[in-house]
Amino acid sequence: MEAVKATAEGTTTIETRKVKAFGTEASTAPLQPLNIQRRTPTPYDVEIEILFCGVCHSDLHTVRNEWHGTVYPCVPGHEIVGKIVSVGSHVRKFKTGDLAAVGCLVDSCRQCDYCKDGLEQYCEKGNTGTYNSPDKYLGTRTYGGYSESIVVDEAFVLRIPENLDLAATAPLLCAGITTYSPLRHWKVKSGQKVGIVGIGGLGHMAVKLAKAMGAEVIVYTTSPSKFEDAKRLGADDVVLSKDESQMQRYAGKLHFVLDAVSAQHDINAYLRLLRVDGSLALVGAPEHPLPVAAFSLIPSRRSFSGSMIGGIPETQEMLDFCGKHNIVSDIEMINIQEINEAYEHLLKGDVKYRFVIDMKSIKR
Ligand code: NAP
Ligand code: ZN
Ligand code: ZN
Repeated sequence: MEAVKATAEGTTTIETRKVKAFGTEASTAPLQPLNIQRRTPTPYDVEIEILFCGVCHSDLHTVRNEWHGTVYPCVPGHEIVGKIVSVGSHVRKFKTGDLAAVGCLVDSCRQCDYCKDGLEQYCEKGNTGTYNSPDKYLGTRTYGGYSESIVVDEAFVLRIPENLDLAATAPLLCAGITTYSPLRHWKVKSGQKVGIVGIGGLGHMAVKLAKAMGAEVIVYTTSPSKFEDAKRLGADDVVLSKDESQMQRYAGKLHFVLDAVSAQHDINAYLRLLRVDGSLALVGAPEHPLPVAAFSLIPSRRSFSGSMIGGIPETQEMLDFCGKHNIVSDIEMINIQEINEAYEHLLKGDVKYRFVIDMKSIKR
């Protein structure tokens, strides 16, 4: 099979080959087996046999077109770990047989100020996401990790610390970096009280990471069933967010709040927890806008902000930090054929705390 790519210099022919994947053709259709084309590796590419892929709530938002802009067929998955099966002639960082990881990004312009600073996620020209982004090589969309294999430029491929369990490392590639990056940016450290809202894939990683950074961690959950786990994950205290009197316990006391909730909720209730000059960073991305009351911010000079995944250097830094502190995700392993059922659990906040797909199952 061949794909033809038009470039400024002329026309290049790119060879492709068929790869088994799981995805969907429409926002209302379940995920099912489908075939996609992957380019044969260029001199700068590595080809990775995918061993495990985490299931992020963003996969679900995207396949159901909740953020709009999904192009079908859509093959999600951006928490990828696997084994390198071939490398291009100019590849320097990796060799065949190495374990490697791919997160949410597979390319960017590499020339703008943000790219040069290792903030490829904020690339001025728009980053190339691992799925549902325009594919610069094939002219189609990029297809993610719910597939047998993936071909990625080595500049966007990460090294995995040897001491970490491979399957439980997969979720670090999105849930890990998306929480690590804001915790670092807002300089979370010992002596600070930090609130983590929503204990799903992202939230449970945030608890582990904030604790390893030395903070006092307070978890806010809608699920009484997660109280014990939150403590086990490292939380110093747990608040049932539906209980108004419990919500008073740290009002005006927190230095930083990280909100990782996937659905509608009252953001003002969490802004009121912040001290003077405290910041709340949103990483959760609900479908609809969240109203903010002026007086949740003004009287204590509070900041309300957001943060998106993390760049390549910081993702490697996060993986190395997790290696050093022995941090991985708590996972529930599934086969790819169970993905639609897993999405139903995600919608109910019922996963402890990340589904990871054993990608061997796609060969069935
Ligand atoms: P998840 O595993 O489904 O966790 C979401 C958690 O939110 C649930 O476990 C639940 O925690 C809480 N929750 C769910 N519905 C709620 C409701 N109606 N009211 C209050 N709390 C509710 O999802 P995830 O994979 O961690 O992703 C979380 C969000 O982050 C998603 O919107 C995802 O798209 C987004 N995301 C953003 C980025 C970024 O770059 N900013 C990257 C990745 C993901 P409790 O049971 O503890 O209440
Ligand atoms: Zn994600
Ligand atoms: Zn750029």
